[in-house]
Amino acid sequence: MQRILQPGEIEALDHTSFPRVRLPQPGSLFADRAARLRQLAQGNAIADYLRFAAQLVQAQQRAAATVHTVALPADQLARAQAHSMPLMPAANSIDPAWQAVLEGLLDTLEQSGSLPATLAPVIARLRARTPAALDALAVQVLGDTTTTADLALQPFIMAALQVTFADRASRLGAADVPFVDPATICPVCASQPVASVLRIGGQAAGHRYLHCGTCCTEWHMVRVKCSHCESTQGIHYQGVEGGSETVLAETCDECHTYRKLVNQEKDPLAEPLADDLASLTLDLLMGDTAFARASANPLLALGRELADDATHDA
Ligand SMILES: [Zn+2]
Ligand SMILES: [Zn+2]
Repeated sequence: MQRILQPGEIEALDHTSFPRVRLPQPGSLFADRAARLRQLAQGNAIADYLRFAAQLVQAQQRAAATVHTVALPADQLARAQAHSMPLMPAANSIDPAWQAVLEGLLDTLEQSGSLPATLAPVIARLRARTPAALDALAVQVLGDTTTTADLALQPFIMAALQVTFADRASRLGAADVPFVDPATICPVCASQPVASVLRIGGQAAGHRYLHCGTCCTEWHMVRVKCSHCESTQGIHYQGVEGGSETVLAETCDECHTYRKLVNQEKDPLAEPLADDLASLTLDLLMGDTAFARASANPLLALGRELADDATHDA
């Protein structure tokens, strides 16, 4: 008697199929990112910042090895799938473990002994906050409503949140992740992508993925679409003249934004968040165009206003 194949089995038979979702693997994610940041720091105009970011990501790697987050409740999973909604919208799904992770990150950074002196007051400010104030700040950071006075705290808050969200996302199955609308937000945590990445190797090779700035999940989007408004018209690419083509700004004439495309075919070690951060020169050039940056880099302590100032000073 013939048996009817289930959807997962049908996909397994199709060797041309590629993963729609790539869930994060925190065990290697943060180590690879830290190594890439250190590599990109060489000869970079913001080398000191990239080296600090590498230290912070290295601390994330250490925290990720021991973090204990709460599993996504089955009813929440079922509800999100039934309504094609993201599984754990970030601002409403902050895991209680995040504050212990933050403390661990700060301890690791201080113990390293090589932290830039200018950061000591920032760390002191974080340590002075009550747990309730930290939770409130986390909600602001995730909602992109951080006040200018707190912007310097943002990379630390995001780093701690990333560890908890990546841990929770890593324990999902790819088949658990719903198709969501709009397809430009993370199907796991509803955050915006930090950049998109053209992957090499394995079944993902040659496909473009959007990389979540919060939970580090990647989801597929065809290259002809704008990663911000899904328009298929008026997509163009801009790079730094004479620079590498590993990172290009993908611009959209419909929504007048740009987001970077990080191309592993040009450099196999390219990593979406690290390469986006290290190509700040491209952002400064884009500041003179009609295109606004679609979403921020979670580890960069620049709000929109400060970014504008930097552009004018450049
Ligand atoms: Zn996400
Ligand atoms: Zn667009």
